[in-house]
Amino acid sequence: MFAAGRFAAVSASEPPTDTRILFRRAIVLGGSVAGLMAARVLSDHADEVLIIDRDDLAALAIPDDRIAADPVTSIGPRPGVPQGSQVHALLPSGQIQLERWFPGFNEEALEAGAVNPPPDTNRFYMDGELRDEPPSGPAAQALISSRPFLEALIRHRVLARANVRTAKGRAEGLLLTGDAVTGVRFVPDGSSEPVEERADFVVDATGRSSRLSDWLEAGGFVRPPMQRMAIKLNYATALFRRPEQADVWTCISVANPGPGRTARIGGFTPIEGGRWTMLVSGYADDRPSRDAAEFRRRCVEDFPDEFGEVATGAEPAGDVVTYHQADSRRRDFHRLRRFPARLVAAGDAVASFNPVYGQGMTSAMLHASCLSKYLRGNPRLNRPARSYFADVKVVVDAAWQISTMADLALPHVDGPYPRGYRLLQWASGLIFKASMRDHRVSQRLNRVTTMLAHPSSLASPGLLLRALTARG
Ligand SMILES: Cc1cc2nc3c(=O)[nH]c(=O)nc-3n(C[C@H](O)[C@H](O)[C@H](O)COP(=O)(O)OP(=O)(O)OC[C@H]3O[C@@H](n4cnc5c(N)ncnc54)[C@H](O)[C@@H]3O)c2cc1C
Repeated sequence: MFAAGRFAAVSASEPPTDTRILFRRAIVLGGSVAGLMAARVLSDHADEVLIIDRDDLAALAIPDDRIAADPVTSIGPRPGVPQGSQVHALLPSGQIQLERWFPGFNEEALEAGAVNPPPDTNRFYMDGELRDEPPSGPAAQALISSRPFLEALIRHRVLARANVRTAKGRAEGLLLTGDAVTGVRFVPDGSSEPVEERADFVVDATGRSSRLSDWLEAGGFVRPPMQRMAIKLNYATALFRRPEQADVWTCISVANPGPGRTARIGGFTPIEGGRWTMLVSGYADDRPSRDAAEFRRRCVEDFPDEFGEVATGAEPAGDVVTYHQADSRRRDFHRLRRFPARLVAAGDAVASFNPVYGQGMTSAMLHASCLSKYLRGNPRLNRPARSYFADVKVVVDAAWQISTMADLALPHVDGPYPRGYRLLQWASGLIFKASMRDHRVSQRLNRVTTMLAHPSSLASPGLLLRALTARG
């Protein structure tokens, strides 16, 4: 099946109906977005699903009545997800997956305080130019909240399932019998000794610093090849109180590198609790600090006026929090000839991208969809999950192509370059530029950047011709 077809298949929106039990017990390592989504899928196919996380997920669970009543003070970042204080946008494709696995999720999130801004309150700037028309249709759908809030709502839904439970502890390795995984080794909270926990299926969702490659090597397998792109990204995020009435709710500004221009991406979005979360980012030596005055200065000097108006006019609602991400990385499990049966990896443990494109959580949700497709496809469980990794590759490629194509234009980024880079760079530059003026080009591009469609859908002569003539 071509990549676009596979991508469409795992982007399905209908709730699955086949819930055949395949396992007595499945274990998910890591209970963040990727782990929670994998646990939701597995709860249809295992008598019991155990999520092991360094944080105490059960203690973080929020009673039903408090989710709606007091989301702001009850839900904050947790140590296991240090990026949780930074701006986190959920792409429309991720919203569809949430609705698919948790019917009614979007409405529940909006009732609890997530925001869906009216389209005419959204602004998008590229290199200082305001886009003529905001996107419309599914690509314009928004469910905006803080990251801890969204994760808490997902966790709430997953832990409500009768066969899912959690354990606090640090995963340390795999149990292997022959070429199959038969469990995990982890150090439970309060203990210094690892214990063994048996399982018929294991998902590694421990994030971008996953040790799965080490564990595979220790078990006599080859490490998955890893690709890294040194993006040297610097983030700073601050919260502000949002007035009831505002002309602009969401504003995103992208400055591409060029003569007299430093590459910078910034944005502010409304979140629960009547607040705005605002991001300013830079690359390499361009490092926003935690100093509030410097944050305000950057907003005024380096971004469109709307940023300065919020940063200087609205009341701060917290400190500036910074984050550095050295690279985008992907582990190409699909290229391994030998791999244990009954084991998969998901989310950032497979691939983590430049976060400015907002692809991570949505990718994790699509990986869960790949897992569902695999488990519903009569899998040969005593063989490696090759069809799972083949689908995951398509999802990773889709996000990787979009984010790395833009990142390769940054002066400090020196590869790896894909085959046909110059042509691809020319075509994507043309389409991005045209999207500022031509609504049809913008709509097609938005479906790809919001992960509703595979990037190959842009490779049409008709679209390129339209982009050429719309360039202005
Ligand atoms: C600055 C920044 C901004 C981002 N912005 C966006 C955005 O706007 N939109 C978006 O979609 N994505 C964004 N992302 C990406 C997003 O955070 C991740 O893609 C998303 O959290 C899914 O990751 P995950 O569940 O695979 O891993 P993580 O969220 O990193 O979670 C890993 C989990 O594993 C647990 N864990 C780790 N090691 C162990 C161990 N040994 N034993 C037990 N538990 C363990 C941790 O406690 C944690 O719960 C951003 C990332 C960064 C860094």
